[in-house]
Amino acid sequence: MIESNFNDYQLSNELLKAINMLNFESPTRVQEQVIPAVLEGKDILVKSQTGSGKTAAFAIPICQLVDWDENKPQALVLVPTRELAIQVKEDIFNIGRFKRLKVAAIYGKSPFYNQEKELKQKTHVVVGTPGRIIDHIERGTFDTSKIEYLVIDEADEMLNMGFIEQIETVITTLSKKRVTMLLSATMPKDIEVLCNKYMKEPIRVEIEEQNSALDRIFQERYTVEQEDKIKLLSDITIVENPDSCIIFCNTKQKVDEVYDVLVNLKYTCAKIHGGMEQRDRLRVMNDFKQGYFRYLVATDVAARGIDIDNISLVINYDIPQDVESYVHRIGRTGRLSREGRAITFVTQNEGKFLNDIQQYIGKEILLKERPEKETINSSKQEFIEKINTTPEIKETKGAPLSKEIMKLHINAGKKTKMRPVDIVGTLCSIEGVTAADIGIINVIDVSTFVEILNNKGELVFQELQNMTIKGRLRKVSKAER
Ligand code: AMP
Repeated sequence: MIESNFNDYQLSNELLKAINMLNFESPTRVQEQVIPAVLEGKDILVKSQTGSGKTAAFAIPICQLVDWDENKPQALVLVPTRELAIQVKEDIFNIGRFKRLKVAAIYGKSPFYNQEKELKQKTHVVVGTPGRIIDHIERGTFDTSKIEYLVIDEADEMLNMGFIEQIETVITTLSKKRVTMLLSATMPKDIEVLCNKYMKEPIRVEIEEQNSALDRIFQERYTVEQEDKIKLLSDITIVENPDSCIIFCNTKQKVDEVYDVLVNLKYTCAKIHGGMEQRDRLRVMNDFKQGYFRYLVATDVAARGIDIDNISLVINYDIPQDVESYVHRIGRTGRLSREGRAITFVTQNEGKFLNDIQQYIGKEILLKERPEKETINSSKQEFIEKINTTPEIKETKGAPLSKEIMKLHINAGKKTKMRPVDIVGTLCSIEGVTAADIGIINVIDVSTFVEILNNKGELVFQELQNMTIKGRLRKVSKAER
């Protein structure tokens, strides 16, 4: 079979450059099917797991098709959780980086007013959770009149969370002349109904990667008494000595408990659960992605969709009580054709959950004996060395794209009637700078942030020290990212 190539799709150079810098060498299977279909304006229904490259599958054609000059949002992506909203926003932003696309993430439990201000500015793509999106539509702060592309991501999860009616409410505010993409890991009946109602002869794409992904993950289990779990966890982590590991518990109390024990044992670790502040959850996920600590103790909030490369080991400290959750949890390892490992603790009276899982995945999970004392002792030295060395910090995915971009802060904003056009006018009068070198401009109350592309940041920064903008010399500094 001839391998396809991103050059086959007639994407703009700006997009190809970003795709290349993100190290996407060739399209994944889902991308091979989705990208050309969406570029042709077809509705599409995709059954595929996260980790298959599905975000880029819709993000690439959307970034290609949106019109930069249009100020109102042209694409709307609905996702079930705030974490996912932020992640998908970043993925789209990275792909659209050199086309200078503005992408907003709109989700609940975050100040409405800031989002309102963001939506007032030029925005090409909006990614959001259904409830907050409806709030903005109803209050007139999100104009959907130009939305031409609608993505319903993780549709089955939205269904589980009871968002189906809200999705319908959103859809009814949109123009019928739009491309609709729906992505889901499973296709329950309600989703079929939704598709029949709101999609036009969708192309159906099914990527059966679930099994191959599951096959790549080496799965084992231990029988253990509840009160002995901590000891087993400690023994196993010593023997396995993973570079990175998620430990899943069924409740936030249990997460707190296990976390406290690990901290006492001097593990580099953090925790995440739904009872934590949004800000803290995001920080923890980002730090884990970058490898600031090796162990994350988590409830299922970290099981879905979240894209972290290279997790060596998943431990189900508590066996999940529904089968899908098992698949999602262990799917955090073994992503994008890598091999992974998953270990599940099962207590005496949890046989039913185990049976359900084994039936669902169609195979038995290997029962292991607890590690012998000698094995634990002989592994200890190496384990201690690893927890005492700081992990290597990874760059964020978008970091290579940002290297040739400098963000400048200008000490003037809305209060002094600064507009993006004033900034563009001044910058374009600098010799060697054109509109194509100017990235996202964000005018807020007393400040303006502007990104300078193509390694021209230093030049612009120097020139602006002696140049007036809107008749006055402004204080210009390099902004922190
Ligand atoms: P997703 O299924 O959208 O969660 O994507 C899983 C991961 O695959 C993300 O880290 C993407 O950045 C990465 N990815 C997406 N498309 C490609 C590609 N064509 N080649 C390599 N990595 C990719």
